[in-house]
Amino acid sequence: MAKAKEVIVTPDPRLRKKSVKVKARDPEVEQIIKEMIKSCIDWENKHEFELTTAMAAPQLGYNKRIIVVREDMSNKDNATFIPLLNPEVIKTEGKTQYDYEGCLSVPTIYGKVPRPAKVRIKAQLEDGTEVRLKASDFLARTLMHEIDHLNGILFIDHIKGQKDAFYKLNDQGDLEPLDYDTYIKNNKDLYPDGEEN
Ligand code: ZN
Repeated sequence: MAKAKEVIVTPDPRLRKKSVKVKARDPEVEQIIKEMIKSCIDWENKHEFELTTAMAAPQLGYNKRIIVVREDMSNKDNATFIPLLNPEVIKTEGKTQYDYEGCLSVPTIYGKVPRPAKVRIKAQLEDGTEVRLKASDFLARTLMHEIDHLNGILFIDHIKGQKDAFYKLNDQGDLEPLDYDTYIKNNKDLYPDGEEN
């Protein structure tokens, strides 16, 4: 099999496009899913401290509504990913929670991002079966982050202009605050339209 496809990063405009719906049992869709899972594992093997929890198709340059989500987010030895086609948020519930998020397409930057605690989504499995699922906490956050990708939205958009919300991973694998004025302010790679609201 060919080498894993590289994950695209900001400011690639494909990350900012709205993706189109896909059909189950389409060989092209199945091929993209294979490439996504391969790239998730490849990325993780190159990043000692990080675990790939999920990926959206635009991150490989395909503007199609496909995401893959890791079955067990706490276990680096379980590299099973579940593909979801056309995932949609039906409803969000619960308090707003703030937690750290990173993105393969926004290298080295992390953010403390507000998200609702719970989400209900609907999607199709690879074979076309319709599923509805309820998720909370980190899984809910992950699903919302990935569905955002299908709409051209990145986690940094949710913390636009918030000087104390940005972090980076240091050499020990810990998060430390990132200097906003140096790295984020006027950074056209992150915010092509400017970072002010
Ligand atoms: Zn992401």
